[in-house]
Amino acid sequence: MDKKLEIGEMLLTEVTIQNRVRELAWQISHDYEGKRLLVVAVLKGAFIFVADLARHLQVPAAFDFLAVCSYGSATASSGEVRILKDLDESVEGWDVLLVEDIVDTGLTLNYLTQSLWARRPASLRICSLLDKPARRQVPVKLDYCGFQIPDKFAVGYGLDFDGRYRNAPFIFVPAECLTEGEKGCD
Ligand code: 5GP
Repeated sequence: MDKKLEIGEMLLTEVTIQNRVRELAWQISHDYEGKRLLVVAVLKGAFIFVADLARHLQVPAAFDFLAVCSYGSATASSGEVRILKDLDESVEGWDVLLVEDIVDTGLTLNYLTQSLWARRPASLRICSLLDKPARRQVPVKLDYCGFQIPDKFAVGYGLDFDGRYRNAPFIFVPAECLTEGEKGCD
């Protein structure tokens, strides 16, 4: 049995996340009134975010899912982006809203937006729960962003630590991911 991960720092509480998700849903509902909205969620990280967002949307929407692989394991980036599961349907003519869990280097979103634009959607916007601008390698324009976070490894609310802890309703930094200087400091 693996040792349980210790919370090093609480980044976002459940209440804070839920309030912001409702605000984002309200804004998106307003912007997509009368449009043909197709929400494309990026698995696995966005599965909880998109489910909560969906329940607060006030406009009819279709949903599809992409699964990509951009990280090897734990906290190290593999640098490459691979589509593990493609969309089920064509996006042609749809107003596509791409929903991500976090933008870090931007490589995943850069790849996905290029891939989606090539499929001729009527429009394409990006919604990410988290934005970690400190590590950006390619510029990414986020149309909807939940929270900007510092350059720390975030876990919970869809984000994993070596495949686990996606089900935590809050977002935290594991104790073992804090730098020595951050440990024990408030
Ligand atoms: P990017 O291509 O922008 O570097 O990375 C995007 C993907 O890397 C995210 O969808 C996510 O799966 C993973 N990732 C980036 N930063 C974090 C983080 O702080 N925590 C976790 N769990 N995954 C991250």
